[in-house]
Amino acid sequence: MKIISVESMILSYEYENAIADAQNYFKRRNAVIVKINTDIGMVGIGESACFGGPPESTKFIIDHELAPMLIGLDPCNIERMWKIMFDRTRQHGRRGIILAAMSGIDIALWDILGKTAGLPIYKLLGGYTDRLIPYASSGFYSEGKDSDKIAEEVSGYFKSGFKYAKIKVGRNPEVFMNPTHNMTDGDKLLYSLEEDLERIEKCCKAAASTGGRIMVDANNSWTVYTAVTMGKECEKLGVFWLEEPLHVDNIEGSAEVAAALAMPVAGYESEIGVYGFRDLIQKRAVDIVQPDVVWSGGFTECRKIAALAYANGMPVNPHVFSSGVSLAANMHFLASLSNGGILEMDQNIYPLRDELLKEKIEVAEDGFVYIPDKPGLGIELREDTIEKYRIA
Ligand SMILES: [Mg+2]
Repeated sequence: MKIISVESMILSYEYENAIADAQNYFKRRNAVIVKINTDIGMVGIGESACFGGPPESTKFIIDHELAPMLIGLDPCNIERMWKIMFDRTRQHGRRGIILAAMSGIDIALWDILGKTAGLPIYKLLGGYTDRLIPYASSGFYSEGKDSDKIAEEVSGYFKSGFKYAKIKVGRNPEVFMNPTHNMTDGDKLLYSLEEDLERIEKCCKAAASTGGRIMVDANNSWTVYTAVTMGKECEKLGVFWLEEPLHVDNIEGSAEVAAALAMPVAGYESEIGVYGFRDLIQKRAVDIVQPDVVWSGGFTECRKIAALAYANGMPVNPHVFSSGVSLAANMHFLASLSNGGILEMDQNIYPLRDELLKEKIEVAEDGFVYIPDKPGLGIELREDTIEKYRIA
């Protein structure tokens, strides 16, 4: 079997009411979907993360830089192709947009390998479980969502059966070096630390009444001092984990925060590749490791990150915040791990997650999410949804 073409397309959804975290003010969300075609008609599907930049840049790299390296090669030699892409882009790659672009190609190759073997990817990777415990990931800032409204929102998740819910903090201009000082729309939806604490407190109260737990995600927005001070308050409230408290490059600082708190520090979705995660893990800057298959280097790189986490006694809870393809891919990855944790399920309105797959991935009546059990990713894309949201 040989690769004959690699295609990419951009899907885009515009929000009526923008949502925000400490790093982004989302007026729209985009997904870059990758398709690899072979000479025997076998097709692989993947997704490349495009967080933080125009999706056109990621598409350009896939189409013009990476695709030509792969034409004519056997799609089942995935390690080899990963290394070709990594080595030939080294002088301007190694992390960032190149690895994110490579991730979508890697996922599509694993999809082909699974279809060739007749096995779902999680089984191909060793298969640890066929079902996952989900957590509701939402609690974003948006216009008019005060502390009562966000508590009401998380109550809804607990009532619908979730045992965990994550909320956003960190749009705090009073904090030195806060991302809002320089980001686009950094003057909107700003909160004091005290107001953030009130949001956390009310959500924890809502959680306690149902036996649920709250996670708090600061998206790279705090300093060591702020993270330790806020973290100790979160601890008292029973917060389950504190996510990405500091700038991702402040590894020593994050290790200080992790050492100062009994509550685990989770992160860092904004790190990429095994070398970056090696430093976070070895310096114990995190207690919970959060790569993302569509962002950190595909299955090929993420399984290495997971092995490193395993060797250091750390669980892996993948970051999942994009289309239905990204959800399926991260589910296969998580289900293959003996040190896998719980599944992030984005609860924001997002048709590219809910309407892109022919069979929507949902929480089952028993509270678990079951891994698609067909070969490869086990998913098919809906052409009507692609037509509706495709911009390139
Ligand atoms: Mg996060």
